Amino acid sequence: MSQASIQSVSRESRIFAPQDEFARQARVSSREGYEELYRRSVDDPDAFWLEIATEDFHWFKKPTQGLDWSNPPHAKWFADGTTNLAYNCLDRHLVGSHRNKAAIIFEGEPGDVRVLTYQQLHREVCRFANVLGKLGVKQGDCVAIYMGMVPEAAIAMLACARIGAIHTVIFGGFAAEAVRDRVNDAKAKLIVTQDGAWRRGNLVPLKENVDRAMRETPGVKHTIVLKRTGNEVAMDRGRDLWWHEMVETVSAQHRAAELPAEHPLFILYTSGTTGKPKGVLHTTGGYMVGAATTSKFVFDLREDDTYWCTADVGWVTGHSYIAYGPLANGATCLMYEGAPNHPDPGRFWSIIERHGVTILYTAPTAIRAFVKWGDQYPMKHDLSSLRLLGTVGEPINPEAWMWYRRVIGNERCPIVDTWWQTETGAMMMTPLPGAISTKPGSCTVPFFGVVPKVLREDGTEAGPNEGGLLVIEKPWPSMMRTVYGDDQRFKDTYWSRFEGKYFTGDGARKDEDGFFWVMGRVDDVVNVAGHRLGTAEVESALVAHKSVAEAAVVGRPDELKGQGLVAFVTLKQGEAPTKALKAALLEHVAQEIGKFARPDEIRFTDGLPKTRSGKIMRRLLKELASGNEVKGDMTTLEDFSVLAKLRADEE
Ligand code: ATP
Ligand code: MG
Repeated sequence: MSQASIQSVSRESRIFAPQDEFARQARVSSREGYEELYRRSVDDPDAFWLEIATEDFHWFKKPTQGLDWSNPPHAKWFADGTTNLAYNCLDRHLVGSHRNKAAIIFEGEPGDVRVLTYQQLHREVCRFANVLGKLGVKQGDCVAIYMGMVPEAAIAMLACARIGAIHTVIFGGFAAEAVRDRVNDAKAKLIVTQDGAWRRGNLVPLKENVDRAMRETPGVKHTIVLKRTGNEVAMDRGRDLWWHEMVETVSAQHRAAELPAEHPLFILYTSGTTGKPKGVLHTTGGYMVGAATTSKFVFDLREDDTYWCTADVGWVTGHSYIAYGPLANGATCLMYEGAPNHPDPGRFWSIIERHGVTILYTAPTAIRAFVKWGDQYPMKHDLSSLRLLGTVGEPINPEAWMWYRRVIGNERCPIVDTWWQTETGAMMMTPLPGAISTKPGSCTVPFFGVVPKVLREDGTEAGPNEGGLLVIEKPWPSMMRTVYGDDQRFKDTYWSRFEGKYFTGDGARKDEDGFFWVMGRVDDVVNVAGHRLGTAEVESALVAHKSVAEAAVVGRPDELKGQGLVAFVTLKQGEAPTKALKAALLEHVAQEIGKFARPDEIRFTDGLPKTRSGKIMRRLLKELASGNEVKGDMTTLEDFSVLAKLRADEE
């Protein structure tokens, strides 16, 4: 154990080959086909990406070079080319009948439905681009977008991209302080917001939050306010402007700005699972190529798909896989405003049935909630339109994966478990659905051009199934360019652990088939009696028990073992939190993994503290479990009452 590798306790061995029917029509339809493309992409990344960039996208001036790595770790891609991402998402799709194809099918939480064709979306984006121009927003200026899930959020993003303004989307669930900090850090000059947003039948007072944030955002000159909920809001004359009034004053024609490939596109703050959120900067050309190419191959998008990504535009998944990636491919995207359990836990399945959704991309946290609520909700709906399922955000527990496959996918739809980060801009490890067999809980193999390695602490490569630190060896087009305004933090966080390699912060192992298993964050590795374990694997063992909906396992100091484990467990609907169940769970972990992995304590709880993007915040639980005061950045915590309740339970 001197190499300090992370021990894997997973015994998952189920494997599912792509179904013939799916493979036959897929872009890449065999493992050999994938291997060949992958080999080309890593042997000569320059040629590989340059070919895709120039053939699949519109450039005002075509690039002649791929990667410029002369100033590591700051990469440049396609640097001598000029393009515009909004042009690539809209203008080039306005040919023939395609202009009348739905770009966005929107369903509001109250049930209102709105369809925007490519032509209509183009007009709206052009208008808003003109509004921004009229208000003095220039190339390189930053615009904050603090909205709910409405088409106008995408319109605002695309309008920024169109004029070369940098957007920073701030998730609509954040409070005024989080808005203020992000607006100031990004130096935004304008905030686009709404009167309010609908969430689980309640009104989220977005404009009111902006008003509070703006007491301390001296750089902001204007707000533009979309009328969505119709509630009364304070409008500061001259400063606050209504969206619907402003777009009436401008033309619907706009010529997209010709921008260098390295022109900054957006700043996005990470979800803050591990600490203070980082302002991740992405630029135009490489990000466009990464987001669009992964959308094309991983979702295997085709002309008649109705694609639905349930993420919020406030997260990177919403950027790459609601807005830019699918639209760059000319796809039809469904956008849903509200909560998955409003008015009842069947809402998602009803949406799929009514709109004939063919591709569903969601998160493990949502899947675990569906399991908890019960099969009766999806069973009530016809889900036969689905042909592909995806997941992202956290390691998915194998039993949740199996449920997704069986109950939602009817054992027919392939599942793409996509590992990536805000920092990577696009998917990094994922199956190609027609080519790669899947194993529940594994994100399988690297996407084109991605060279992941699992390293020991000393930098040597770990052996098969030996857990270690996940790094990426070669630059890729959609990689982040820096932490906005803080190059040093960029270097320290990602590039200082191993010379010349991007450190992901995640632990992983590679199995005998070359499949990758992300075992959670390195910060969540515990050392129990000499065993270094990723807590995510112990969680998966607990989730495999029939009574358990969700589990979070953390370490706490233990005099004998170094560290002991504490498990926080939520139960499925109808299960009782008894002593007998505790004993059964301990026995179950011993069976699944071994006695050493048995938690020292199991605490039943109604909920787990999560980030607003739905990830379990283990660092808070770690503090609780050790009896310490919970501190550190908590602005991204979703529901403070969960933490208060956990504290109270303790007393
Ligand atoms: P912060 O960096 O602020 O702590 P964060 O890492 O949660 O927040 P994101 O960029 O949204 O912010 O999330 C990326 C992380 O999510 C990955 O590093 C990984 O830990 C986890 N993740 C995402 N997708 C997967 C997946 N398919 N399998 C396993 N883990 C995943
Ligand atoms: Mg992270």
